[in-house]
Amino acid sequence: MSHSLTTMRRFVLSYACCTARNSNALQVTKRFIQSDQSQAPFIEVPNTFHAKDLEHTPTKEPKSKTPNEKLVFGKQFTDHMLEVEWEESKGWGKPRIVPYHNLSLAPSCSALHYAIQCFEGMKAYTNGKEEFLFRPDMNAKRLNRSCSRLGLPTFNEEEFVKAIAKLVNVEREWIPKERGYSLYIRPTVISTEETLGVLPPKKALLYVIMSPVGPYFKTGFAAVKLLADPRYVRAFPGGTGHVKLGANYGPTILPQIEAAKKGYSQVLWLFGENHEISEVGTMNIFFYITNEKGEEELVTAPLNDTVLPGVTRDTIINITKNEWGMNVSERVFTMKDLNLCIVENRIHEAFGAGTACVVSPVKAISFKDEEFAIPVPEKGLAVKLVNHILGIQYGDIESPYRVKINDLL
Ligand SMILES: *Cc1c(COP(=O)(O)O)cnc(C)c1O
Repeated sequence: MSHSLTTMRRFVLSYACCTARNSNALQVTKRFIQSDQSQAPFIEVPNTFHAKDLEHTPTKEPKSKTPNEKLVFGKQFTDHMLEVEWEESKGWGKPRIVPYHNLSLAPSCSALHYAIQCFEGMKAYTNGKEEFLFRPDMNAKRLNRSCSRLGLPTFNEEEFVKAIAKLVNVEREWIPKERGYSLYIRPTVISTEETLGVLPPKKALLYVIMSPVGPYFKTGFAAVKLLADPRYVRAFPGGTGHVKLGANYGPTILPQIEAAKKGYSQVLWLFGENHEISEVGTMNIFFYITNEKGEEELVTAPLNDTVLPGVTRDTIINITKNEWGMNVSERVFTMKDLNLCIVENRIHEAFGAGTACVVSPVKAISFKDEEFAIPVPEKGLAVKLVNHILGIQYGDIESPYRVKINDLL
């Protein structure tokens, strides 16, 4: 009761702040409270940090860099990190680039007890001459949505992207120079409030760490096998599957362990009585099929609050639909639909899509103790897409999606 009251008070407050600036604010705030969460606009924040205020404390002990061939995903981190503190009474503090360091947190802090935490995953690329980000505005937007869902503070998205660019600029030398290699960027927001109360946080920390990473598939393009187990769901209507909260991922470990025991490397997430296919592991999923009308169709799950709105997903839809003129649908696709496609030989390809791997082809799916094989053509759509998207990311193909770090400084 006291919690929902406090929450309401915060909404009312943010509504009041917005009204002064924007007459649409009432509508905006109402729509946010009423659901259709995946499409919810942000609550405009009167408070933000500014990239121009950035303070930089260089490290005195630069680390040695791991050779490219020895890089392991998310294990090595660069010399510096970005930190911005927030307090309800003071708003955002100055952003700081400081040496990579351990955090000091109260054992009572509510990020540790109630998972009041969210994150992003994005990358910086170099072609040896210039450094780039890929659609960073999308990550900024999504992080703000994640923060809103947890009562964490939001920020101006352009300032966020500029601060990231400044951090990448300091760590230029850490971006591996080979094609397929990149600097993985992990923005994170946590509640730092010392309380065991389940309450909207009054203190928070936004920090960004970065890790040089290699191509997801070291030995070429390795297709994966998936286990679809209808006993587990990743997300549900009214829940938080559409935002990137740490709380969504811890509970996926057990299904992952069970899949691995049976020889499957990822979990295919299903939802509902008719086993709608929603996502794979931590990726969106696409099926390239001939549909019942005999048309070629690229299908992915529609965005609602059980599906994470992936930047790669959106990119693939735009390229295939608008540039290549393919027939692309965001529609419900069930295990029954998939099964029909497989037995009638109408499936061409299936692949996951996410920042880490771009696309990850699927060669088999196990469901109710039956394994279905899926073709993995050598010159299929997945391969064409990964080459095109890498071409954009490394500066070979002209595209508004690629942003130069130098232009953001
Ligand atoms: C991060 C993530 C994705 C992929 O999003 P991208 O922006 O393309 O990296 C898809 N599904 C889930 C569940 C995710 O956490």
